[in-house]
Amino acid sequence: MKIGFIGLGNMGAPMAANLAKAGHEVVGFDMADVAVEGVSMAASGADAAKGADVVITMLPNGQILRAVANEIIPVMTKGAAFVDCSTVDVDSAREVAQQAAAAGLLPVDAPVSGGVGGASAGTLTFMAGGPAEAFAKAEPLFAIMGQKAVHCGDSGAGQAAKICNNMILGVTMIATCEAFALADKLGLDRQKMFDVVSTSSGYSWTMNAYCPAPGVGPQSPADNDYKPGFAAELMLKDLRLSQQAAASADADTPMGQAATALYERFVEQENGKGMDFSAMLPRFEKRGRG
Ligand code: NAD
Repeated sequence: MKIGFIGLGNMGAPMAANLAKAGHEVVGFDMADVAVEGVSMAASGADAAKGADVVITMLPNGQILRAVANEIIPVMTKGAAFVDCSTVDVDSAREVAQQAAAAGLLPVDAPVSGGVGGASAGTLTFMAGGPAEAFAKAEPLFAIMGQKAVHCGDSGAGQAAKICNNMILGVTMIATCEAFALADKLGLDRQKMFDVVSTSSGYSWTMNAYCPAPGVGPQSPADNDYKPGFAAELMLKDLRLSQQAAASADADTPMGQAATALYERFVEQENGKGMDFSAMLPRFEKRGRG
């Protein structure tokens, strides 16, 4: 297949490289001057998209996605798939999909989970929204870049799944960190705390796979001075998207709201910017109840 790939950052570059390695012809474009093994670079997004069977975008946010969509949709070949893998707001995803469908394209919103490690290893999870025909066209490419792809429903359903998942992630990380800080103050050894919780009803991905306490559990950013990993500001971005979605759908999400406020304070007032999102633990360690 001929694939256009727009947005070759931390995630996009290894994803595009895996598609090229699998034998596809990949033409890439990024605003920044980047080189990706096996990918030939175009002079613009439109040039990368022209004549492609599938165009994949991996961009920072919904506003940039909309701008890129306005540029590439008019030049794309009818029947081609437009697969957006960025994490963006549900409204942008739906509007871009509508615009693409009106131009005779097959739209898929397909955000991912698995981080830079998963993008490099080709083990991402894709959560996809869009017509069945569009998902079927993108599926062989998901199989190269990832280990699982779930067709969640109509356009926007992939973003909805991503936002809900990451709202759970933010809330759970905070709960895990505050429980560790409480355990410290109660004189409980951290390893014992991990041994109990990771095999009891308080277990979670944040405890078992991404433990925020250094030296405890599997290797995680906590063992690397809380360098990201998954940066606190990206967690904040996703939590804000969850609250934007909750407001527009009139959903009551008090825990998501509290997690958003806490990450906002952490990133904007407490030097959390540039730290992994699990650095909530040292934040709690330093504080008392007042
Ligand atoms: P990044 O900032 O490393 O990459 C984004 C790239 O887009 C940059 O290289 C930038 O130059 C390029 N870009 C910006 N505007 C452009 C334009 N108009 N045309 C072409 N290129 C443009 O970000 P990333 O970490 O690769 O994340 C990309 C998306 O994936 C985000 O939506 C993010 O939320 C999501 N995501 C990231 C992770 C992660 O762990 N990093 C995990 C899951 C999902």
